Amino acid sequence: MQETERLFEAAKQHIPGGVNSPVRAFKGVGGTPIFMDRANGAYMWDADGQRYIDYIGSWGPMVAGHAHPEVIEAVREACINGLSFGCPTRLENDMASKVCELVPSMDMVRMTNSGSEATMSAIRLARGYTGRDRIVKFEGNYHGHGDSLLVKAGSGALTLGQPSSPGVPKELAALTSTLTYNDPDGVRAFFAEKGDEVACIIVEPIAGNMNCIPPEPGFLETLREVCDQHGAVLIFDEVMTGFRVSKNCAQGYLGVTPDLTTLGKIIGGGMPVGAFGGKHAIMERLSPLGPVYQAGTLSGNPIAMTAGLKTLEILSRPGFHDELETRTKKVVAGFEDAAREAGVAVTTNQVPGMFGLFFSEQKVTDFAGATACDTAAFGRFFHAMLGEGVYLAPSAFEAGFMSNAHSDADIDATIEAARKSFKAL
Ligand code: PMP
Repeated sequence: MQETERLFEAAKQHIPGGVNSPVRAFKGVGGTPIFMDRANGAYMWDADGQRYIDYIGSWGPMVAGHAHPEVIEAVREACINGLSFGCPTRLENDMASKVCELVPSMDMVRMTNSGSEATMSAIRLARGYTGRDRIVKFEGNYHGHGDSLLVKAGSGALTLGQPSSPGVPKELAALTSTLTYNDPDGVRAFFAEKGDEVACIIVEPIAGNMNCIPPEPGFLETLREVCDQHGAVLIFDEVMTGFRVSKNCAQGYLGVTPDLTTLGKIIGGGMPVGAFGGKHAIMERLSPLGPVYQAGTLSGNPIAMTAGLKTLEILSRPGFHDELETRTKKVVAGFEDAAREAGVAVTTNQVPGMFGLFFSEQKVTDFAGATACDTAAFGRFFHAMLGEGVYLAPSAFEAGFMSNAHSDADIDATIEAARKSFKAL
């Protein structure tokens, strides 16, 4: 038995399903999750010493590559000054001003410890600000595991066939209305009927939790329009897209401005972090200024702020996102060529730093399209790629993540692995 299998057997004794987050469990592709020992640049090494070219990047944070030397050095220095104070620090000022500089829709920002906390807090703030209870989300979008948001959700909830979770009171779930992504007519029709009950729309401006599905032209603009007409708050959940698709996030890349933005992943550089923010008028309703309560013992943690700030500094350098886009295009074009050569029907979606590979003949623009793909073929492809030393997300419903540590040689090796893996299907 390999060490990674032995570790999984041991994990199952005391950790539900052997994992601390469900999508790590390989339920979508079958087989045994691989235990990792270390990571550097574009690579991870498992407990048996096997090296993988990594396209998960810790599910998004590692846009500059694993264990980036500048990030590690900054964290090492920060640790010497203490791990947590529970008091304000200048690092939090630096983080807040950097985020507000890069994201013009934000005047103020509150740090949290995860993306889930950021989205839960943002919808509470939107409800408190508007005095309304109903929220609108989209099928297959994932916004973390907050009760109001685990209704027709994507990501692990979708992979495990449980998009709406037991344990969420039905009275609360009834306040979450779920509409179809990329369907502006459906949104208009809903708002014509119930618009004045709606506290907020929360949306992934580029969906990354039913694989990667960018917005069709006009979709996000329609959300902006109906929110303005009906006095609802528009929340862009940029936990995944924030600072990845551009240094000004998806809103800068796409040119549509939300009222509130949620962030996570990259903003912590690999440490546990989330954040949410927006204009003064809304953010000033938050405690201790206003009545909407939100808090966190470890929020704004100095080590997390240090890792995040250094990562933001690296990705703000000229050319960072152009390079990321070039790399993403190259790997996606390679996947397409390799599939064509092998006679396998795939379509792709991509934005800078994120891509989707679908076993489908049709372009995928929504949840129905994503779930109609051949997930069994994806599972076989995933395991073939793993055998070739390439680590893709272990689910047909997760996006691929690119980093700037992926060299041309890494991308060429990935394409060669894809050529063999498609042929083996
Ligand atoms: N929102 C989006 C768009 C996400 O992709 C995720 C996590 N994948 C979350 C929220 C939740 O973040 P976390 O897992 O840090 O709680």
